[in-house]
Amino acid sequence: MEGLSVAAPADMSQLRALFAATEGPMTFIAGGTDMLIARRPPPAGGLLIDLSRIAGMAFISTDSGDIRIGGATTVAAIAADHGLRARLPALAEAAAQCGSVQIRNRATIGGNIANAAPAADLLPVLVAAGARLECIGRDGASCELAICGYAPDRGHLIAEVILPRSGLLPRSAFVKLGPRQDLSISRLNIALLAEFRDDHFGNVRIAAGALGPRPLRLPLAEAALVGKELAPATLRDFLSALTAEVDAAIPGRGSQAYKRRAIAGLGLNLVAQALGLSPREHLFEDAAR
Ligand SMILES: Cc1cc2nc3c(=O)[nH]c(=O)nc-3n(C[C@H](O)[C@H](O)[C@H](O)COP(=O)(O)OP(=O)(O)OC[C@H]3O[C@@H](n4cnc5c(N)ncnc54)[C@H](O)[C@@H]3O)c2cc1C
Repeated sequence: MEGLSVAAPADMSQLRALFAATEGPMTFIAGGTDMLIARRPPPAGGLLIDLSRIAGMAFISTDSGDIRIGGATTVAAIAADHGLRARLPALAEAAAQCGSVQIRNRATIGGNIANAAPAADLLPVLVAAGARLECIGRDGASCELAICGYAPDRGHLIAEVILPRSGLLPRSAFVKLGPRQDLSISRLNIALLAEFRDDHFGNVRIAAGALGPRPLRLPLAEAALVGKELAPATLRDFLSALTAEVDAAIPGRGSQAYKRRAIAGLGLNLVAQALGLSPREHLFEDAAR
């Protein structure tokens, strides 16, 4: 086949039939918000598959144990879903802070993962929650991959994002810092999932973006909270751990000084948001001093 052909399957069986019938290179486009503005040229040949009309790829299911989200679900749908906001507020919040209304209406969760930008806003929440991806390989076979094991250049289609019940903790939050308030690519973003009871943290998972090529779990910051009482001393230890994470992730980088200060402010907002408190409460102001 010469030149680029385009296919727009209507359902998953048509999509699978295309996988079986195509021998040459295959590329996907969903919302096009990354692909169409990328500096690299669009594919010159092979088959470009438009995922945006596949009904079975855009859904959010939060009723049973695991949360399941179709790979072509838009960021706007994720931001607006009440069930998702109840079970994993951090993901709805991360989606609500992606781009503009127009971008959110086109952008998809599968595109956010596959584009794998260091500052992608959905990724820290997905990493902290231990997301798994239901994929279709180039040979048409389905496989399940951990989000950290997904390699964009292998050509796997992300059919579904699975958030296992075991990875979901009752409190969660997402905060980001960009060069301006709206329509801003993150300079730093961070997600927290936590258990919190009787003023004490239980299990805690934290991941941050824009500290390296991929989002990172922050084990020092997690350890500073796990099992600890919510108190200024705990929060001070947490802030020291966050700055140590920045020092370990980007030693000597031009942005290190800025990010080690920025992550402290973000960290306090993150904890306050997860616990439904104001970051202006004395507790947080004491910790920041
Ligand atoms: C003005 C502007 C502002 C933005 N602001 C933000 C922001 O604040 N936060 C943020 O995180 N991002 C932001 N983005 C980036 C972008 O909107 C997101 O990364 C979006 O989620 C990409 O999804 P998409 O469906 O548009 O991807 P596309 O552009 O369609 O595809 C991107 C890549 O992913 C691949 N792909 C798409 N879907 C799948 C799938 N299901 N399986 C496998 N591969 C797939 C494509 O082949 C392509 O390589 C912004 C972009 C623009 C233009």
